Amino acid sequence: MTRFIFITGGVVSSLGKGLASASLGALLQARGFKVRLRKLDPYINVDPGTMSPYQHGEVYVTDDGAETDLDLGHYERFTGVSARQSDNVTTGRIYSDVIAKERRGDYLGATIQVIPHVTDAIKNFVTSDLGDEDFVLCEIGGTVGDIEGLPFLEAIRQLRNDLGRDNTMYLHLTLVPYIPTAGELKTKPTQHSVKELLSVGIQPDILLCRADREIPEAERRKIALFCNVREEAVISALDVNTIYNVPLSYHNEGLDEQVCRHFKIDTPAPDLSRWNQISDTVTKPEGEVSIAIVGKYTGLRDAYKSLAEALDHGGIANNVEVGTQWVDSEIFETGDVLSHLEGIHGILVPGGFGERGSEGKIAAARFARERKIPYFGICFGMQMAVIEAARNMAGLNKAGSTEFGPCEHPVVGLMTEWLQGNDLQTREAGGNLGGTMRLGAYPCVLEKGTRVYDIYGSKDVSERHRHRYEVNTTYREALEKAGMKFSGMSPDGILPEIVEIPDHPWYVGVQFHPELKSRPFEPHPLFTSFIAGAIDQSRLV
Ligand code: GLN
Repeated sequence: MTRFIFITGGVVSSLGKGLASASLGALLQARGFKVRLRKLDPYINVDPGTMSPYQHGEVYVTDDGAETDLDLGHYERFTGVSARQSDNVTTGRIYSDVIAKERRGDYLGATIQVIPHVTDAIKNFVTSDLGDEDFVLCEIGGTVGDIEGLPFLEAIRQLRNDLGRDNTMYLHLTLVPYIPTAGELKTKPTQHSVKELLSVGIQPDILLCRADREIPEAERRKIALFCNVREEAVISALDVNTIYNVPLSYHNEGLDEQVCRHFKIDTPAPDLSRWNQISDTVTKPEGEVSIAIVGKYTGLRDAYKSLAEALDHGGIANNVEVGTQWVDSEIFETGDVLSHLEGIHGILVPGGFGERGSEGKIAAARFARERKIPYFGICFGMQMAVIEAARNMAGLNKAGSTEFGPCEHPVVGLMTEWLQGNDLQTREAGGNLGGTMRLGAYPCVLEKGTRVYDIYGSKDVSERHRHRYEVNTTYREALEKAGMKFSGMSPDGILPEIVEIPDHPWYVGVQFHPELKSRPFEPHPLFTSFIAGAIDQSRLV
């Protein structure tokens, strides 16, 4: 029997609900259960693909090509369970499905209403496409009290009646702030937040209270009393120094025990050895390397969440701490580059869109190539490296990408047709922007004897994509002659997936996003190797 845990958040946003959900998933897994994590997002966009990552954080892409919320990245990294299209839904998607059904006449003349039609669609989403999972953890985006969230809260309220108390649990994440002038932790915001939940008919079973210090017994008792929750079910979620300590900290505070108690299940203590091990590695690194991430915006770190984590995983694999410096690409166009790159052991140009900042990224690729600094170009970063090689190695001065308008040598251009499995995919310039990129997992064949073949240790790999433009194979010969090798291609040989410069200590560009598949317990081989290259570089400087 699958049990459902609904996770809501209150008081303020950014409390780390995604990480809390992922950590509880990991703890239940460590107790031997099969888990699945889902996210219900109340915003009106059909998917986050059209939202600015600088506002909403990165778009996480699944193997099956869904553009999803970045929290699905946390879920995958913490549990190792690959997220799917059916693990993330938004108000926009629910409404567009309901309206499409209405247009088809599927409701047989009924008046379509939020309750029951929209709530039924949400409930269907929560309970469908499941196998033999023991637990489904369902995180509701936003904060209790948001207007957009109401249909979702109503749907999960109904689900307790539909599925029974023994199969459902409500976990509410709140904040217990410390007020320095009073010298106290305050419980009132939590009380108000629970009151807000109660007003829509949901009584939380467990309260997970974020606090910057241990919540004293008396305050926990007070929260329990006012919020009608068992005292042991009021759990402190303390700030920790690394995200890998979150599951361990929640376990120490009794979270998984209380969840098992709620569901009346008796299991042996969880096996947390791998979490203990990772926590040790992260807290006692044997060295440090510094990587410059060259981007257009360097503001919101969440815009490159998976990337930052994949770099950490590369550090874990090499037992070093990875420091990152977010460098504005414009310094490569104008400023004094060297002063910004002091003590840097590798340069990474990540994914990106649009012309602004591109010349700086091209200059960064050149700088890394000429000075023999490890270079890792991801998606846009690969395309910029190819333009750089075309201009400065192959002598095609007017090389560019058609993403920035027509050019004489379009070494990067729009692909209008390709195959995904047996399906022909087509795109046109000026077509719809939402969900129309090359998305999801595609196979890639690596050439024997190349650097990436050694790194992966196999010929066939599968990686996730999210881009509209491709490196143009018309220029392959010229580029290879000049010293840039096309070492990974789509199986039909049409789409370049990886380029490298053999005559360089570490220079790789990939059309896909390897960071999306990196996990702390299985660091991605490209990141492991890139950090190893940076360690070698650090010995030189
Ligand atoms: N803008 C480029 C494209 O659409 C690269 C996208 C990316 O880096 N994800 O092809």
